[in-house]
Amino acid sequence: MEISKYLSDSARQTIKAAVKEAGGNEVFFTGDITSNGLVESVKIGSRGNSHTVPVNFHDARNTSVLIHNHPSGNLLPSEADLNVAAGASENGCGFYIINNSATEIYVVVEPVLPHVAKKVNEDEAGEYISEGGPLSKISDSFEERPVQVELLKQIVNAFNDDKIAVFEAGTGVGKSYSYLIPSALWALTNREKVIISTGTINLQQQLCEKDVPAVEKIIGKKIKYVLMKGRQNYVCLRRLNDAASILDLFEGEGDELKKIAEWAQSSPTGSRSDLSFMPTENIWSKVNSESDACMGMRCPYHNDCFVMKVRKEAAGANLIIVNHHLLFADIESRLSGAGYDDAAVLPPYRHIIFDEAHGIENAATSFFSESVNRFKINKLVNQMYRHRKNSEAGHLCSLAILSANEEKAGDAFEFTNKIKLALTNVEITAKDLLTNDYTMRLYEGTARNFGPFLVAVGELTRALGAFADLIRIVMEGVSDDDKDAPCYWESKTILRHLDSYVILLKNFPMWDEKKDDVFWIQKKRLPPDMIRDGGDPEYVILTQTPLDISHLMNDGVFEQMSSVVCTSATLKTGRDYSYWMRRTGVTLAGEDRIIKGEFPSPFPYNKNMLFAVPNDAPLPDNIQYQQYIEMALPRLIQAAAGRTLVLFTSYESLKSAHRTVVACMRGFPGRIMKQGDDDNSKLLEAFKKENESVLFATDSFWQGVDIPGESLSQVIIVKLPFTVPNDPVFVARAEAIEKRGGSSFMELSVPEAVIKFRQGIGRLIRRSDDKGVVVVLDRRIYEKRYGSWFIASMPECKKVYEPLSDITDRINSFIFN
Ligand code: SF4
Repeated sequence: MEISKYLSDSARQTIKAAVKEAGGNEVFFTGDITSNGLVESVKIGSRGNSHTVPVNFHDARNTSVLIHNHPSGNLLPSEADLNVAAGASENGCGFYIINNSATEIYVVVEPVLPHVAKKVNEDEAGEYISEGGPLSKISDSFEERPVQVELLKQIVNAFNDDKIAVFEAGTGVGKSYSYLIPSALWALTNREKVIISTGTINLQQQLCEKDVPAVEKIIGKKIKYVLMKGRQNYVCLRRLNDAASILDLFEGEGDELKKIAEWAQSSPTGSRSDLSFMPTENIWSKVNSESDACMGMRCPYHNDCFVMKVRKEAAGANLIIVNHHLLFADIESRLSGAGYDDAAVLPPYRHIIFDEAHGIENAATSFFSESVNRFKINKLVNQMYRHRKNSEAGHLCSLAILSANEEKAGDAFEFTNKIKLALTNVEITAKDLLTNDYTMRLYEGTARNFGPFLVAVGELTRALGAFADLIRIVMEGVSDDDKDAPCYWESKTILRHLDSYVILLKNFPMWDEKKDDVFWIQKKRLPPDMIRDGGDPEYVILTQTPLDISHLMNDGVFEQMSSVVCTSATLKTGRDYSYWMRRTGVTLAGEDRIIKGEFPSPFPYNKNMLFAVPNDAPLPDNIQYQQYIEMALPRLIQAAAGRTLVLFTSYESLKSAHRTVVACMRGFPGRIMKQGDDDNSKLLEAFKKENESVLFATDSFWQGVDIPGESLSQVIIVKLPFTVPNDPVFVARAEAIEKRGGSSFMELSVPEAVIKFRQGIGRLIRRSDDKGVVVVLDRRIYEKRYGSWFIASMPECKKVYEPLSDITDRINSFIFN
């Protein structure tokens, strides 16, 4: 073997000198190879004696080649060499043995050559959506948007240079083309996959149904793409068939099951969203796909399985469209051991586009939170074992018949009773804590009061753990031949959930050791149709939430991916991105990898948007404030002739204002609706259709609502959207900032509110010809120092700060003249 093909002259000189310095003994080196397979330089890892050298495993894990010398000149590998070489090859790492003068080499394992990506030409990519390019030829209403072209080129650069891009792109930039075209070009050129992750199902549908097919026409190439949902969204044909075989046990729900079975025969996707009706959670949870209940290749329905079909499609796809939640499920499984080279929930990938990236922190926080309540536990326990009127039922009974450990199942009655008793005690002690509050955090300040609750949690942990162990033992007694039985697969899923609840419950008493998590309890009221006669209308939820997801994001996403593009209309607070970048872990990735850019909306806000704040409003902490809102709203609504979305931060305030406004606007031709009157989607449809209607709304309407045209001509923001200080996770995060000497108000409360505020005002102008008014009734925006952050985050437009009566005149003439 010719050593010059493997080691550069300088690497050989370094090796020779290091061996000489070590008295001719063995020296262990690591080296990185270039794309042509040459090691340009080496690093000394350890030194040994004349016949052995310790392997420096820390360096060995992060390198492409391991090298050491044999002073004897016999370069054949010893047994120890072969063992180390085998481990190295699993990581794609090469293993070389050389002589002391670095003139001869024996290659035990060839290294894997680094993959060299082919760059995409940014100018050529930009031409697709420029004047005279393919888009201009196929679109009747084409108008070149320079910001869109620039954004596209910057995204190409992010792919080419392995960057983490943070790009704020205003409404109307047309950002989906700007990322889909580079993603498709990259994927097709390099035969790699690009994941497009979004926050909402609406955007996923728009991408799949409209934008990607349009991009295929623009670039003139076929793109393989797939919309992938979490497996629970797909029907499992095996479970459906098993459930259908015991149809008579589905009291009152048999019809629903029959309809699902009929639909499954002709559905092309098997996805719940394609059903013409919404199945109850109870029925769907019995027939959906579950990872533990999936028999994989052994399943008799494998060839027709919807989950397998979508997985196959994803394996061959260029673009995979997912929501943030599914992406985090994949990241979690990779961080827990699946690694980044093989399929986990998704096929392997190295590039991600996060659209609606302002929602990453919330999506990750919600995904990595764990919570439990009595309904979740009772449901699982009842599925495994029920005892009524001297008869027993449930999967455990079926398992016991197949199990060599059948007698163990005899303890189920006693164990499930213990669980019920312990659950009752947990609820009683939690409600004692929550007499005057709806939420309470477990921390130094409350730990003493939590004593009886934690004792009850300990009892529940033991009872649930014992029941889970019992199921495990009975399952272990089932022979391989009987492991295809439905009860076995169902029990696997239930056991996984029970185990995760046991871990969560075990963590509660260890709250002070788990400083990276927030432990909290919450009291909730059951919906009226679920309250049984004499039953308790309230229940308690126990939750563990990560305090900070930045390290998870850095370890699981930014460190692992070649490129990540994060885009949204609202990433900046004030004049920079530092808040969003800190919260999501981008700042941990290192300055040299990050590129930032702002791509402003092309809409004429200066001409089409009026921003008004009444200067005669009381401040929100004044007791007259609610009264003022209820006086101001009818006048503002009249001025805009309806067409108004009123955004609240509190449902109580909304309900009171709605009552008063409806009462004093009798005779107004438009409907005055409020969130909660109907499904959010139906309310939105009605609001869009009925021009003069008004909608009073809270949280979910601050973002993602798209109402172009005249139906929405006025957005009223009742109060600046600061998070209420009784949200336990928010308070814990604020405390963590204060502890390290920061200001939680300026580092958390204000920037979070600014992002939400920007989302709220972003509802108004959705098309270039939309015109309207944003009214903020909270004059802190002009009178407090932090108000300038909100003002600076707004698009350039006409702003007025004057008495309400002047504002109502202005609104009328602005909208109708
Ligand atoms: S392969 Fe798995 S998900 Fe598909 S039908 Fe069979 S058990 Fe269900």
